Order: sequence, then structure tokens, then C-alpha cells
Amino acid sequence: MASLIEVDALEVLVIVDNEVDPISSYNIPGLTVSGQLADIAPRAPLQDNDRGSAKFEIRLDNVCCGAHGLSLMVTAIKGQNRHTVLFDTAPEEHIWELNAKRLRADIGTIEWVQLSHWHRDHSGGMLKAVAMINQARSSKDGVVVDLHPNRPASRGFQGPFGPVALERDPTFDEIEAAGATVVKNDLAHTILDDMFLVSGEIPRVTPYEVGFKRGMRYDEGTGTWESDELILDERFLMCNVKGKGVVVFTGCSHAGVVNVAKHALQLAGTEKLHAVIGGYHLVGPNEAWLKPTIADLKELNPDILMPGHCSGWRAKVEIENTMPGRLAPSVVGTKFSF
Ligand SMILES: [Zn+2]
Ligand SMILES: [Zn+2]
Repeated sequence: MASLIEVDALEVLVIVDNEVDPISSYNIPGLTVSGQLADIAPRAPLQDNDRGSAKFEIRLDNVCCGAHGLSLMVTAIKGQNRHTVLFDTAPEEHIWELNAKRLRADIGTIEWVQLSHWHRDHSGGMLKAVAMINQARSSKDGVVVDLHPNRPASRGFQGPFGPVALERDPTFDEIEAAGATVVKNDLAHTILDDMFLVSGEIPRVTPYEVGFKRGMRYDEGTGTWESDELILDERFLMCNVKGKGVVVFTGCSHAGVVNVAKHALQLAGTEKLHAVIGGYHLVGPNEAWLKPTIADLKELNPDILMPGHCSGWRAKVEIENTMPGRLAPSVVGTKFSF
């Protein structure tokens, strides 16, 4: 595998995340945050000047909407070279479309779409996103969609009265029919001039991050539901920012966010962890390992922790208490620049 190169800077646009918060302040050295209410005012200039000297209006239909899922548009910059990846595609088509439009996101720059894992809250907006990206792109080739080859026919979990199915993920055929160039990959690989790295299977090295309790998958061949607690198709995205360190993008961290961070450092061959952004999944049964998780993250000495999506409020409280000044929650509509 080619090795990941250092980039000069990174920009992350949160197209979809669970939480809406355009008003909290961020004050983290080295992190620029925009997309808050005052920043979006220029999207709505006042035409007829009927309100004195006011030039802009904060229109609430320019504020993004939250949804249970994730979609991050990540641009890496090195010299004059820029590349953009879409990491996950949100739970529903209409929410991805709505937010991309409200953000005036330059989606024609997206060259690569990576799905973190087969769960509908990450794949649900895929078909619409692919169609919109292709329409906005100057290239005639369909945007690349990078998928793990092992797509379950359906995922779910063991409920009190038997398996509960989750909504199905789009199929490979549907994604291709939407206009994508599908690539299937279960090994770590660098992409786009080696400015990004997509992981392979995430090694489980901590004793306590034991996966998705009661997770199941449906086997179409046998017509049965089987235990599937490890979600082994989960992969993260990462970059290495010059002078700062590794920035990791994680979908749900079913593998455990400490396992994710450790593996990212191993892949980059560095000990400098700059930031981890995405779902930490420290909710429900996983609250049992919230404290060791945050303690072990602290050992890795990250500069910024950016929990979003399925992280849960307890994780944010624990991070702020344990590592004051390093918490920068990922919230929808925000643009983070490293
Ligand atoms: Zn999720
Ligand atoms: Zn998931």
C-alpha cells in the first residue's frame, strides 16, 4: 500500500449529523469554526432596504436540519492540490439534499464517496447524493463509491420478541444504477494522490470495546438471522495534517473509538493524534465502557475530540470533565478548518 502523505490543511463540512447547534461557541486553538448563525447571514442579503441599515437577514431556512446519521464532506489541501471525499451519506435522501443546498456546498468537487459501514443511517442518502454529485461535476465519469464488499442482506438486532430489522442499505446494483463507479475494498488503501487513507478491518485491541450488543444480520441463503456484533465491515477515513497529526473520521465506532484511534496512528506510523470526528457510539449498553474509553483516549493525548452522531451526551460531558478545552462537538451545518 502506498503511504499516506501529509497535507497542509483540512476542511470538514458537516452536511448531516444528529445535532443542530448554530450558536454554541468554540474556542479551540488551531480549529476554525464557521457556519454559525452570524456566518450564514450573508446568504440572505436584504433586497429592498426596508429595515434601515440592516444589510442581511438571518433566515432560518438557511439553517441545516439534524437527522440520526452522518455525512461529512472532507477537503484535503496540499499546495495547489485539493481533493474532496464524502464520508457517509446520511440516513435519508431528502435531508442530504436539503442540507447540501442550504449550505451551498460545492458538491461538484466531490471525487470519492466512502461508506463507513453498512448501516442505513450512513447509507440512506447515497442514491440521491450520487445523482446530485454527478450532476454537479464537470467529469462524465460517475463519482467513485468505495464500499466494503460484505453487504448484509439486512442488519438488525435481537429484540425482546425476536430480530428487529433495520431499514435495508442500498444494493451495489442500485448504487451503480444511480450513476456511481463502485469500487469494493476490504483492505486499507490510500486514495486521491495519497492524501486520504481508507482503513481496512479495525483490529480489536481493547478488552472492553466489544461491539454492537445483540447485533444481527439476515442471511438470505439460509433465511435465518445470525449474531453480528462485531460489524467487521466498518472502516474509517483519515488524513495526516502537517505539524498537527492524524485526523480520523469515524462513522459509528462499533469497533470502539479507542481501537479506531489506535489503528489510525498505527497506519500513519505516528503517535500524534490531532482529532477524532464522528460517531463514538457511547450510548445504550456501550455506556458501560464510557469511562475507560475516555480515559484511554486521554492517554492518546488528542488535541481535539469532536464527537457527533451516535456519541451521546454522556460522552461529551465526560470528555469536557476529563480533558477540559479539547471538546468540539460535530454539529450539522458547521465547517471546521484544521
Ligand atoms: Zn450510525
Ligand atoms: Zn452503525
